[in-house]
Amino acid sequence: TVRVRFAPSPTGPLHIGGVRTALFNYLFAKKNNGTFVLRIEDTDQNRYVEGAEKYIVDALNWCGIPYDEGPGKNEKFGPYRQSERKHLYKEYADKLVASGNAYYAFDTAEALDAHRKGHEAQGKTFIYNWHNRLKLDNSLALSAEDTQAKLDAREDYVIRFKSPQDETLHFKDQVRGEMTIDTNILDDKVLFKSDGMPTYHLANIVDDHLMEITHVIRGEEWLPSLALHNQLYKAFGWEAPEFAHLPLILKPTGKGKLSKRDGDKLGFPVFPLEWKDPKTGDVAMGYRESGYFPEAVTNFLAFLGWNPGTEQELFSLEELVEAFDMDRVHKSGARFDPDKTKWYNHHYMQTKSNNELAAAFKPVVDAQLNSDATDINYIAMVIGLIKERANFVSDFWDLGHYFFKAPDSYDEKALKKAIKDDTSDILKQVKSLVVHIDSFSVNALQSDIKGWITENNIGFGKVMMPLRLALVGALQGPDVFDIIFMIGKNETAKRIDTFLS
Ligand code: GLU
Repeated sequence: TVRVRFAPSPTGPLHIGGVRTALFNYLFAKKNNGTFVLRIEDTDQNRYVEGAEKYIVDALNWCGIPYDEGPGKNEKFGPYRQSERKHLYKEYADKLVASGNAYYAFDTAEALDAHRKGHEAQGKTFIYNWHNRLKLDNSLALSAEDTQAKLDAREDYVIRFKSPQDETLHFKDQVRGEMTIDTNILDDKVLFKSDGMPTYHLANIVDDHLMEITHVIRGEEWLPSLALHNQLYKAFGWEAPEFAHLPLILKPTGKGKLSKRDGDKLGFPVFPLEWKDPKTGDVAMGYRESGYFPEAVTNFLAFLGWNPGTEQELFSLEELVEAFDMDRVHKSGARFDPDKTKWYNHHYMQTKSNNELAAAFKPVVDAQLNSDATDINYIAMVIGLIKERANFVSDFWDLGHYFFKAPDSYDEKALKKAIKDDTSDILKQVKSLVVHIDSFSVNALQSDIKGWITENNIGFGKVMMPLRLALVGALQGPDVFDIIFMIGKNETAKRIDTFLS
């Protein structure tokens, strides 16, 4: 059975690239009746950020892609925080030492630095591998006793993977296909440090194995680690999972990787939820707080690196699960388009009930009017009239404030266009028609006023333009008869009077 994992490091808020990785894992798991695991990779204590793990969990839940197994949930393979598993890893590092696949090295930071600088001075990059490992601290030449003596003397050490010399490695990625790499360009990566902590590489492989992960789906930035990871599986004698590396998410211009800082620079969120930096107090925008529906977010994220192969762009989460196929994940970078995210939100707005939207909009109305007296059903009816033009709940006030209060100014340009000599007479007559109407309904208003216009041969613009201005303050908004019906006879009369005074 399929088991996938999302393995973020809690070094800050998850950005949308991370959420995209989680989403693809989720979709692949659900598509295959598999399990979606959350593992917190917090071995690097220096980079640990307070609140980041909670943020990750909240973000997944808000997006509607909760994990099946992870911290605090179905802990069959737990614990799921690497910091709580640290006692596990040394044994595995030692196994690799015993089998000759890894070795203790005692280089000091100064010695490594000197070597690096020496190489740089000659215009070469320093690669710590067979090429120079014996020239460094001679670790591989140390006998078991000498190594033990150094350990007993509490010298700082690392355990490094022993990268082979002059070999070509072959491996496969589900997105990239077959790949080969010359081992001579590979470093002897550090697997374990004398502070008792494994590095990412060791902990990640050991945990994927122990947690019986079948598919590793992650961002392209991990592709350079794939050769090492494959070798680690081989060295342990374990079966490697399948790997799939998701393409980069590019800036809206298509040039360069979308960065965490682009959001503030370009004015759109790059985080699912708002994030307040615990150190600086800076607040970064979130999709949730910016008024996005989670369905819109998962829909646009799905298209960053995948497509269904048809023209269909709108997919509910269930439909995504149904349609998702790793074969349709592409290699090339996926350009992030903030306008498209709004387009998606607009669509999902239309699928929401007016009542649901009204509940979200009511606090805005209450704050604007300084009163909570507005009827929720009235708000829902207003939303029914304006939501076609809205991308966000926060657009509602601009689109429909005149349903709640009289305009406090009139659009200058529109005034020039709408006011004629006879405007005052016309509006007085309209007012009288409205006030004396038999049955107050949109239909009656429409037939009475329109009938009167035709009978008197006035011309629609001469009536409708100033009337709309009087009620709305600008030449915008839905049908005037809807507006009159909503605000009522008295309010209509009052607004006409104010307009004419
Ligand atoms: N902890 C790594 C990260 O933060 C996990 C990478 C992987 O999925 O192997 O992205």
